Order: sequence, then C-alpha cells, then structure tokens
Amino acid sequence: MKELHRLSISELSPLLSQRQVSPVEVTESLLHRIAALNEEINAYITVDEAGALAQAKLAEARLGKGEAGPLTGIPLAIKDLLATCGLRTTCGSRILENYLPPYDATVCARLREEGAVILGKVNMDEFAMGSSTENSAFGPSRNPWNRECITGGSSGGSAAAVAADLCLASLGSDTGGSIRQPASHCGVVGLKPTYGRVSRYGLVAYASSLDQIGPIAKEVRDAALLMNAIAGYDNKDSTSAPVPAPDYLETLGRDIKGLKVGVPKEYFGQGLNADVETAVKNALLTLEGLGAEMVEVSLPHTEYAVAAYYVIAPAEASSNLARYDGVKYGLRVPGANLLEMYANTRTQGFGPEVRRRVMLGTYALSAGYYDAYYRKASQVRTLIRRDFEAAFEKCAVLAAPVAPTPAPRLGEMVADPLTMYLSDIFTISVNLAGIPAVSVPCGFSREDLPIGLQILGPPFGEPVILQAAHAFEQATDFHRRKPQWCEGKS
Ligand code: GLN
Repeated sequence: MKELHRLSISELSPLLSQRQVSPVEVTESLLHRIAALNEEINAYITVDEAGALAQAKLAEARLGKGEAGPLTGIPLAIKDLLATCGLRTTCGSRILENYLPPYDATVCARLREEGAVILGKVNMDEFAMGSSTENSAFGPSRNPWNRECITGGSSGGSAAAVAADLCLASLGSDTGGSIRQPASHCGVVGLKPTYGRVSRYGLVAYASSLDQIGPIAKEVRDAALLMNAIAGYDNKDSTSAPVPAPDYLETLGRDIKGLKVGVPKEYFGQGLNADVETAVKNALLTLEGLGAEMVEVSLPHTEYAVAAYYVIAPAEASSNLARYDGVKYGLRVPGANLLEMYANTRTQGFGPEVRRRVMLGTYALSAGYYDAYYRKASQVRTLIRRDFEAAFEKCAVLAAPVAPTPAPRLGEMVADPLTMYLSDIFTISVNLAGIPAVSVPCGFSREDLPIGLQILGPPFGEPVILQAAHAFEQATDFHRRKPQWCEGKS
C-alpha cells in the first residue's frame, strides 16, 4: 500500500470505510508530515492539531456506526479566507491576523457534516489579490516542484499543500484564476465552478460578482467528490443558484467520442511560452485520440478582458474592504481622532497590493469616472459573456492553456504588478462570464515545472468539463508524478 499521505480521497475512502485504516491514524500521519515539511514550502498559516484530531475521532465513531460518506475521515486544508468557527481566519492579511470567526462558512459546515477533517488554514495572497501568493502577509508559499518558484495564486497554499501531500485535497477560491492557475503551477486539479453554484456565505469577499469557491485536488474524481459536498443552493447567499446540484461522479468514466471541443484561437497567440504551447497542443491531440472532435472558435473580446477585470475587481474590492476600519473587525491602530484611527489601521493593516487595488477601485468608482471605467468595463463584460455563448453553440467545451508560462521564479512578479495582471489573460474571462472551468495536469516544462490544461464549459456545465478532464487524466499520467523534493519524505 502507498504511504497514507500519498493517497487520493478516492483511494483512501474505501480503506477508511472497510476499517483498514483509521481517520485518527491518517490525520496523525498528515499532521506529522506538516510539522516536518511545512516550513520549507509555507503552505499552512494555521495548523489545527487539536481540532483535527477531535474531528478524526468523531469520524471514527461515524465509521464505526456505518454512517460514513466518501469524505468521512478525509483530512483537508482550507484556504484562509473561508470562515472556520473559532479557528483563526487571516485572509493572508495583518488586518485579520487574529480574527476568530464566530461561525463556519457554508462550505466548511457542509464538509464537517460529511465528517471531513479540517487540518488547518492555508496561505494565500492577501485578500486573494494576486497570482503568486507573494502578497501574503505571512510570507510566500514555495512551489514543491521547485522551491525557488512561486506556487501561483491566490490559492497558492492550497495547491502547494495538495501537491506536497500535506492534505488530501483543499478548498480555494477563484475570482480571476486563483484556483486554476496555482493548480496548474503545482501539477494538481483545480475546479472553478459556475458563479452561484457554491455558496459564498462565510467567504471573505474580494470581488463579489466574480468570487467562487471550488476544490483543488490530486485527481478529477476527488474534485467531483468535493463538489458533491459543497455545491447547491444556500439561502444564506443571495447569489447562490436555486439549481439542483447533480451527482458530479456520474459523468466520470464516460467516453468523449464525438464530444466537440472548441479551441479558441485567441488563446494560442503571442506571449504563450513554447513549453506551455507544446504541452497544451499535445493535450488537444490526446483529446482527439480519445474521439473528441476539435473545432476552431473565436473569443474576439479576449484582448479586453484584463483591462475590464482590473477595473471591476478593484472597484468591488474597494467597496468590500471598506469594512476593515478598525471598528468591528481585526486590527485597530489608534490615532488622535476617528479619521486618523481609520487611516492608521488601513495603512498598517493592508499590504501594498491591497492598498493599490483599493485606490484603483475607489478612483474608478468616483463621481465623474464611473461611466468611463466601471460602466465601460461592465459593457465589455457582457461582450465577453456573449463570446462564450456564441462559442458554446459550436462546441460542448473549450480547451485552452491556464497560464501563459510555467511558474515564474519568486520575486519576478511582485516587482512588476502589470506583468502580474497580464498573466491572468487566460483565466479571468471565465470569471467575467460566470462559467465553470477546470485545470488538469497536461505536461511539464523543460525545467520540469507542471503545466495545466484548462477545460471550460457553459453555465452549470461542470459535469461535462469534469467528464472531459477525467477522460484526459485517465489517458495520461501527468497527475501521478510527484515533485522530486517530496520523494522519500514520509
Ligand atoms: N490574479 C487575480 C487578481 O489578482 C485573480 C485572483 C483571484 O482569483 N482571487 O485579482
């Protein structure tokens, strides 16, 4: 048998239900591994040893009574912007460094109901603003494939923890690529669901019209298992869709013969790294070999997506982050009067990227500029959504790269915010349109860094993108490779 930490949920779950291993044993082995390895990759901000062991014991009791589901006793890591009752939730920020939520996010509550074990909270760019996890107030996470490289972001801690077997799977959030891009850079699977598919109640808001929670996992099947637990209507989130959630395992294993896969020509142009291009084009050949039918499609407004996103997201952020003023939540830095207290708290509590976004957003929303920026960006957003609607008339899914390059070196991105924004080119249109997309490992660069294939679907098309991703995954073995650094470390 593989070492416990190396197992996927789908492999571990039957062992737990047949009582061959106990949840306590699994949890202990993961806590041990986190203690030994976390320092080198900085995936966890907070490890909840006592809480995890207590949940493992509860899971054990449920297994004993035969009341277990597929997630009972499965140790998971949660991105540190999802409220966990009584467990510190920092959002990667000094301003929330000691914030203890008095309630669970709906997704966390649902995972607990399933008997999952929450090991702790994982690292992220502050307020999910960034693409490298270097904007975390708790230091950057490091990529297990090469610790001189970024993990991607903003859910970098989630992806690194999954890649390094410091949890079985994780939850992340994706506003402009934050699940898919770190999954791609760390060689794991990441699914950004349709807007409204998963409740955002208890998610610290960044850009509310774009944010969506989703799984990061070792394999497609595990992502589907997590979706089965977290998807569905929630009356605590007014944007949650009153659409019944299907069983996401149902389409896995179905072949993709005759499935029409659209290839957007705008995603294969200038600026695409040669290794990424080769890996993704080979992946398209693999899909074709499995019987899929390739069709060229066009998403003509792609070139405006970055500009539109970097107006809409900061605008919504500037409004969402107004609540961190030293009064109700988190950090308070005193001042001579109320205004000075606000200013001191926000200046010291927020890092440079968050301050930049708040200023950009406030400017874009200010009187006289609203029409020129926010309204214009919203109009572009509609055009982008229509591009996808037209494309999905010709095909069932779209296939594309996730990020234009493999993981850059640490330091390269923070030095140049504009380059960082531009690197989101292949992921942010999905959020602007509200559609689902998954990243699945599809190759390695010459420097042995993972590369992901992105499969996009129409609204509520998770079943078909999971089907295609699963068919691809089963025909390849990129997802089975482990970072060298992890080998031999138990
Ligand atoms: N990189 C994008 C940003 O900085 C997306 C982040 C995200 O999806 N949370 O806004």
